[in-house]
Amino acid sequence: MKLFTHHEFDHHEQVVFCHDKASGLKAIIAIHNTHRGPALGGCRMYPYASEAEALTDVLRLSRGMTYKSAIANLPLGGGKSVIIGDPRHDKTAALIRAMGQAVERLGGRYIVAEDSGTGVADMQLIGEVTPHVSGIAEKFDAEGNPRSGDPSPMTARGTYVGIRAAVRHRLGRESLEGVRVAIQGVGNVGRHLAKQLHDAGARLWVCDINCAAVQRMVDELGASAVANEAIYDQEVDVFAPCALGAILNDQTIPRLRACIVAGSANNQLAEKQHGLALMKRGILYAPDYVINAGGVIDVCYERSAEDRGRIVQRVDAIGDTLEEIFDRAERQRQPTDAVADRLAEERFS
Ligand code: NAD
Repeated sequence: MKLFTHHEFDHHEQVVFCHDKASGLKAIIAIHNTHRGPALGGCRMYPYASEAEALTDVLRLSRGMTYKSAIANLPLGGGKSVIIGDPRHDKTAALIRAMGQAVERLGGRYIVAEDSGTGVADMQLIGEVTPHVSGIAEKFDAEGNPRSGDPSPMTARGTYVGIRAAVRHRLGRESLEGVRVAIQGVGNVGRHLAKQLHDAGARLWVCDINCAAVQRMVDELGASAVANEAIYDQEVDVFAPCALGAILNDQTIPRLRACIVAGSANNQLAEKQHGLALMKRGILYAPDYVINAGGVIDVCYERSAEDRGRIVQRVDAIGDTLEEIFDRAERQRQPTDAVADRLAEERFS
């Protein structure tokens, strides 16, 4: 297995292999870059087919966090961790605490958060052995009522602000009244986004493999239900992917009728070349890690107990960052994802 010559290595500052015999913990913590601050990133627990697969995943995700935090102007670097194991069968309190001890040994260079396969309860266990954990602080809404640690509403808000910026840039319209939006996936982020778009006067087409989630949007927001495979073909202004990665690819891009792609899903481009393919079709793409940073902004400032109104302002600044990216991309005749990468690199180098 390659490490320094691994194709995802990309100048990682530190990669730590963590083992605890008593609990059976096998984990990897990757710290890509700490120039802007400690590396914050989720801990994913997954039954990887091989150690090599786990390493590739953690390196790729950790690098992605550096770009996401930098472009969002957060005082954070990028890192990620993976626990090799099935969260349904292999997770024990002892194993999660052992993971917390591994995080503690890094002395604050890495701050752990939840990710797929881990949740708030796991972070609370980790919080018993290290302060370098996020997503466990008690939160309050504008009225002072307790609210959950779920970052999805802020991710949805950032995505909504991003769609407004894209519509302003591409369609020259300030208002979303009558703008047609197709949403792929109405889960935690997608349904919050749908509600905000509806309230702003947009018309919605939605799909989801969960039929009940679609029906809820039809009943509550008057959305039109679309078959999953047909979502790419809708005659709309905006396509908002909020479910899966790699959905912008050789098969789907030629089918899109929307002139804007702006949604919360991670890793939307199947390959780097698909950013250029979108540009060539005249489709304005809001780079995924820019538009979906609302959640990480929320998690970051929750740690410093910042006022909620100020956090919302910071999330709303996603719109300004996207406008800067759209302008630069137009001037330089470059795909927006490539321009976003350069801007992030300027901010963390
Ligand atoms: P979620 O699991 O709550 O929602 C995803 C929805 O997509 C589910 O309702 C699921 O049934 C649906 N879905 C799955 N496969 C589908 C398919 N083939 N076609 C149509 N629908 C399908 O997840 P979420 O928290 O809402 O996140 C949505 C996306 O945004 C993910 O890609 C996630 O990585 C990304 N994201 C989320 C956050 C956050 O704060 N939750 C932050 C950044 C990025």
